[in-house]
Amino acid sequence: MDYRSCPSCGATSFFSAFNGDKVVFTVSDTGVFIADPDQVFDEVLSDIDIWQIHCSGCVWSGPIHDLRLESILKN
Ligand SMILES: [Zn+2]
Repeated sequence: MDYRSCPSCGATSFFSAFNGDKVVFTVSDTGVFIADPDQVFDEVLSDIDIWQIHCSGCVWSGPIHDLRLESILKN
């Protein structure tokens, strides 16, 4: 599976605040949120605000469709 990456630093790990918890996830090339396997937050992924996700590698935050398609850039 290919992932979308941060337009600023290229990281593929993102987080979003949800009811006081920090939910960490990756985003597939088709725009699907995938929970970090160390967490049990799958049930809240559908409630993540797609307009305001945060990069785990830098200070970037923004909407999901601003993410880069990593596989396209590599090929
Ligand atoms: Zn970043």
